[in-house]
This record gives sequence, C-alpha cells and structure tokens, in this order.
Amino acid sequence: MRVFLAMLSHETNTFSNIPTDRGQFEARNLHYGGEIIEAYRGTGTCLGGMIEAAARLGATLLPSVAAAASPAGLVTKDIYGHVKERMLRDLKAAGAVDGVLLDLHGAMVPEGLDDGEGDLIEAVRAVVGPAVPIAVTLDFHGNLSDAMVRGADLLNGYKTYPHVDMGERGVEATEQLVAIIGRRLTPTAALRKPPLLPPLGNQGTARGPMRRLYDLAADMEKDPKVISISIFAGFPLADIPDAGFGVYVVTDNDQALAERLADEIAETAWKHRHEFIHTALPVREAVAKALAAPGKPIVLADMADNTGGGAAGDGTEILRELVRVGARSAVVACLWDPKAAALCAQAGVGASVTLDVGGKVDDRHGAPLRVTGVVRTLSDGRFVHRGPMARGLPGRLGTTAVLDINDVKVILISYRWQTLDPEMIRFVGIDPLDHKILVVKSTIHYRAAFEPMASEIIEVDAPGLSSSNLARFDFKRIRRPIFPLDPDTTYP
Ligand SMILES: [Zn+2]
Repeated sequence: MRVFLAMLSHETNTFSNIPTDRGQFEARNLHYGGEIIEAYRGTGTCLGGMIEAAARLGATLLPSVAAAASPAGLVTKDIYGHVKERMLRDLKAAGAVDGVLLDLHGAMVPEGLDDGEGDLIEAVRAVVGPAVPIAVTLDFHGNLSDAMVRGADLLNGYKTYPHVDMGERGVEATEQLVAIIGRRLTPTAALRKPPLLPPLGNQGTARGPMRRLYDLAADMEKDPKVISISIFAGFPLADIPDAGFGVYVVTDNDQALAERLADEIAETAWKHRHEFIHTALPVREAVAKALAAPGKPIVLADMADNTGGGAAGDGTEILRELVRVGARSAVVACLWDPKAAALCAQAGVGASVTLDVGGKVDDRHGAPLRVTGVVRTLSDGRFVHRGPMARGLPGRLGTTAVLDINDVKVILISYRWQTLDPEMIRFVGIDPLDHKILVVKSTIHYRAAFEPMASEIIEVDAPGLSSSNLARFDFKRIRRPIFPLDPDTTYP
C-alpha cells in the first residue's frame, strides 16, 4: 500500500503586518523527501503519529514536503506557490497511490486566497481523481470551509487545547485512511458553521464550553457508525468569511446520522455561546495581585502577545509595569527582539547594556522600553521540547540572551516561538521554580506544562494581536452577523 504524505501548516493572523515568507518557514520547518521521516519519527506531532501508524500497518509512505512557520501575517505567494507546486509535482511523479495523508492547519491564509487548505486539498484531489481517499489532520483552530469538507474524505481535527493529542490524531487519520483504502469504511460527512467566533481565551478543553462539547462528542463516538467528530473552536483573528467555530461529523455510510449529530453539537454550542466571552485583569492590577499573592511562581499569562496566535511577541506592557514597581524576582519568557539579542551577544556575558527592548513590530504591543541590565547568559537558542506538547521536537530560538534588569530577567529570542514549554526558560540557565513571577507569552498552550508548577495563574489583558477582546479588532470581511461581534445574532 502506497500513501503519499505531505505537511503544510500555518495559522495566519490577518491583522499582523509580518509577512510569513520563505525565511519564516526555513527558520522553523522546511523538509523534503526522506528527511521528513527522520525529522518527525518518534515526535508528539501528527507526522510522528502518521509515521508510527504507517509502519505498523504496513503502508509505505511517500514523503514529499513538510513546511511550517510560526503564526504571523499572510503567507506570501512565493512560499505558498513553492510548497504547493512541490507537493503536486511529487504527487504526479509518485504515479498510482492508494491514499493521501496531509497534515494541514485549517487557518492558513495565503496572499490572494481566503482558504489555503481548501485550495490545496482541491489541487491534490484534481491530481489523484475521485477514487483515491484523502485524509487530513487539522488544528483545533482550523476555520473550516466547504471546500475542505468537499475535497477530503476524512478530516481529523485535534480534540484538545493545549494541543496534546497531535500524535494520536496522526495515528487515527492513518488507521482510518487504511480502513477506507481497504473498503472497511465509507465516510459520509456533515459540516455546521453556526455564526460564532469564540475568542481564544475560553477555548481551552480542560474546562468550559469546549469541554462540554467534546464530552458530548465522546459519547456520540461510542456509536460504531460514527468514524470521528471534530469540533473546531476556530481561529478568530482571521478576517475572512469562514473564520470561527465549526463542527465536522463523519459517519460510516450514514449521511442522516452525520447531519443529526452535527446539528445537535452546533445547537449545544450556540446555547452556551456566552461562556466563550473572556475577561482578564488589566496590567497594573495583575502585577499587583501577583506580588501580593503567597507562594511562587505566579504565572502572569500575557495572552494577547502570543506568537502562536500571530501576535508580535515583543509586547512590553507587563515588563514596563514590573520594572516600574521594582518587582523581584521575575522572568519574562520570551520576548522576540533579534536586534536586542544581538546587542547583548555583542556586549558579552557580564556586560551592562542600555538598550530599547520590544515594541518594534507595530504599535499594537506597547512602545519600546529603554532599559539598563546585565547580560547573564547567551545561547544559540537550540533546545528540545520536554513538556506535554511537541515532546521530543527540537526547537530553535536563534541567538538568545538573558538580560537581567534588577532581578527582572528578560529572555530575548531571535526566532518567534510561543512560550509553551518551561524548557524555554531552563535551557538558558533559569530555574522557573526559583522566581516569584513568570510572565509567559501564551494564551492557553502554556497551561499544559506550567499549570502543574504554578502556585497561581493570572490572566492579563495587555494589548496584542492575540487578544481575546475582539472589540479591539476592526473586522471587515468576516460573515455577519456573527456572535459576539454582533450580540443579537440568532441561530439556527
Ligand atoms: Zn491551534
């Protein structure tokens, strides 16, 4: 059995002014052919799961291209065209294949296109024809479209946020694809898109509205006629018509059942839509509360400056307040500022430097902050994820410096990456447990690893492009009305 394999993953924040170009993919992941298997085997990723399951089931993988970049603005025509062409060329060169496995995101917006995944799946379908099954794994934040559902036989969305089930979904997609190839499954799918745009802040699956929905789905999946159910909270910071919540139910040759279950989940989500509204503490209050709290570390979640949601990662408002009140001891993890990191590297360990940190990308993450501090450590930014997310996957932060401003230690990084793993603090010589305050630039993902070690977590409403306060954004192209932008929206 020969199965074509490719990956293209990007979560596009259309409000960001950072173009996602070839350099951004090269800094993170751009692999071709057999090196994909080497890079991902044994990792907690969809590709890791696909590789493991394919080997177990005796399927031969034909790996083409694997490309991923940190969330930012529109994916440039150049890199999208390059990856798509490479994929289609390899697919044609592969000759007859029995199936196709794609690891995509679902919220990628290339320049000139609203629906990157829909475009890609349609192009792959055009090459393989209607008879070859296509299975696709998608991120929990996918903004589902008709084109994706129409083009693929099977979509498997992550069921968790923090995304700790990527490996499992890769295994599931592969096993189900093999069953479709063997004619043991005949997928029939239903899609529902209620007019709902959940902000990121209450999308977590440990509790709240998404937990309720996934518990409901887990019950439904006990029916052997149900192949799988994916409930996409969606990525709200994409000003495209299809942004937002989506329900995808796929059954074994029972369209009516798929439609009925999809309706039930969509209506339940709608009934509880107000639970998605999120509030967080203003910066000053949050810092004061952290300093007054007993125990350590207190995690201050800088939810709106999450590079994993396409924010700049160089927000300064919480740091500014920590310095203003003379907080000690605190760690800010991690602030994206290649220029400041390079200046620290030039000065060397032990040097005292005065420089502007952060606030350089745009005017939506606070102004640059002039500070004087001592360079404590320097690193090339290579580490390995050790937490529940992406365990075993190597990470690259580029030139990394720890700048100590009167016991407020700022980890300056050169490649954008969300602070989702305490290893990003440890590998530069800082013990996160030794500090009173940990500022973590992440919306939800940090919880998987930081919740067990935190004495308390305080969610902060600082400015930034991954903010859960959707009123801060000027939406122009999303379908209207949609809740909560239009509070009086009705459904069905
Ligand atoms: Zn996601």
